[in-house]
Amino acid sequence: MIKTAVILAAGMGTRLGERTKNQPKGFLMLDEKPIVEQSICKLLEIGIEKIVIGTGYLAEAYDRLATRYPQIACVRNDEYEKTGSMYTLYHLKNHISDDFLLLESDLIYEKKALDILINNKRPDVILASELTGSDDAVFIEADEYRFLRNMAKKENELNHIYAELVGITKISYPTFQAMCSFAEASFDDDLKLDYEHALVGISHQVNLYVHKLDDLAWCEIDNEHHLLRAERYIYPMIKAKEKNVPPVKRNILLNPGPATTTDTVKYAQVVPDICPREEEFGNVMQFISDELTKFVADPEHYTTVLFGGSGTAAVEAILSSVVGEEAVLIVNNGAYGKRMCQIAKAYGLNYIEYRSRPDEPLDLAAIEAMIQNSARKISHLAVVHNETTTGLLNDIESIGRLCKKYQIQMIVDAMSSFGAIPIDMEAMNISYLAASSNKNLQGMAGVAFVVAKKDHLEMTKHLRPRNFYLHLYSQYKYFLETKQMRFTPPVQTLYALKQAIIETRLEGIEKRYERYTKSWEVLINGITRLGLTHLVKKEHHSRIITAIMEPNIPSYDFQEMHNYFYRHGYTIYPGKLEGQNTFRVANIGDITYKDMELFVNLLEQYLISIGYCTERKEIHGDSKT
Ligand SMILES: *Cc1c(COP(=O)(O)O)cnc(C)c1O
Repeated sequence: MIKTAVILAAGMGTRLGERTKNQPKGFLMLDEKPIVEQSICKLLEIGIEKIVIGTGYLAEAYDRLATRYPQIACVRNDEYEKTGSMYTLYHLKNHISDDFLLLESDLIYEKKALDILINNKRPDVILASELTGSDDAVFIEADEYRFLRNMAKKENELNHIYAELVGITKISYPTFQAMCSFAEASFDDDLKLDYEHALVGISHQVNLYVHKLDDLAWCEIDNEHHLLRAERYIYPMIKAKEKNVPPVKRNILLNPGPATTTDTVKYAQVVPDICPREEEFGNVMQFISDELTKFVADPEHYTTVLFGGSGTAAVEAILSSVVGEEAVLIVNNGAYGKRMCQIAKAYGLNYIEYRSRPDEPLDLAAIEAMIQNSARKISHLAVVHNETTTGLLNDIESIGRLCKKYQIQMIVDAMSSFGAIPIDMEAMNISYLAASSNKNLQGMAGVAFVVAKKDHLEMTKHLRPRNFYLHLYSQYKYFLETKQMRFTPPVQTLYALKQAIIETRLEGIEKRYERYTKSWEVLINGITRLGLTHLVKKEHHSRIITAIMEPNIPSYDFQEMHNYFYRHGYTIYPGKLEGQNTFRVANIGDITYKDMELFVNLLEQYLISIGYCTERKEIHGDSKT
């Protein structure tokens, strides 16, 4: 068992400017505790008994820390200004006599990272992660056995990139000796050698295994941008993942939201009771509002207004609050377009309905003709982005151009696209966008929100209000002035939403869409193989939800099929189209293509049981002759 850890902490951290003027990087605070001390506590928790810290810049800070931890020995590299991390490590050689964990001082990470290294049976293990998109990443090239081949900060210096270096490495004593020999030979012309290069330098003589962890929250804090990211997303994520709680039974929801959520989102709701009028809670809502805006627009010109309610509340808030006496053109090519017409009607809005088939792309020329020929002046156009009825993705970018041409403000119901399909409100010319907490954001149901272009929203100030609770401008103004919703917010749901936003951020919207798309492809290939068809052609498909044509045989019954899946932990959804017999399968939420593979297998079993298709004799029939 490893009992020793070594922390490299000599560096000056100049890129953090004023923050490291009077303290080394390791003493940056999160939750009022230096990050290096948090790291030390984790090391002690996993059974490390001796921690050797290679100090240099403002070494006194570490000496003071060592007075509180008898396990710490500090060894100073007086040449820290002229030397690199390998020099610091080399100078610890009289204090190291065993295998050890090597860490950088400016890391925050989940304790799991240490467990993985300790429990890996190989003597030398480099911890790595998926690419984080950091501007200061060290990329790793590995061979087919996952042994280190090369590392570099520039992607183009490597033949291919396997993973990103975390900065926590398990090093056996013989390997350390090899690193020291390599260093001795290199110091003559390079005192700035860093330990990564020493590892690469010995990699042809020692097998250095690269252990890539897909699901690790961690970051290095080297500059202001890293610090902000650490404070806002990574550190809260680490805390959420380190909560000591039992897993919750996992159901696979293939309905179009509420979607399957992570346990970290579920448990984010368990918080001390708080009055939502407290500033602390106002800060939670401010975070949520800012982050939601940032997903689709520049917060300088756009803002997010929150409501307690399901998604329809956001659509209703927009339609009822921003349209004046002039007409709103509503595109209706599914149940959600129709719903917007119903809302318009309920409020007595001056609206024009443009109807289009639910399974075909919109005819832009026809929409343009409608605008041109309208006797009434059209001030707004409302359209659903991903029509959840069918999975038809409306081309809002082209509609946006049309709106620009005719100086029409565009309203988009992006309920089932937000958080997965990339949206740029400015580029797409969207003035108002409606979405909710419980679809691709993978949060709990109960928060609806409107992202609005500020100067357009300001223009609605003078309109006569048609309602009270859902009045967009009032809700906006009140939040701006007080950081509060006008009426009691869904407190715990908002905590879950905050966590869900952090997770969306860390995964990234593009990556999330890739994950969804992979599940969708498994679904489409699966149903096609089983002889089923889907309503919307691939090229117009959102890849978020699919309307599948029902098996046309008497033994099929949707409710029965639903119950069959439900018993197996899968929830599917009925169709919502008049005159077309479909059922729906969504592929959103915290699920992967593997869940979808299991779903397709279950579907096959079910279809066999009702006599719709027959057993496949050969599992890999296609590849054999
Ligand atoms: C889910 C959804 C809504 C909102 O439905 P609620 O039941 O109110 O949450 C609105 N529009 C679209 C396109 C949707 O997918």
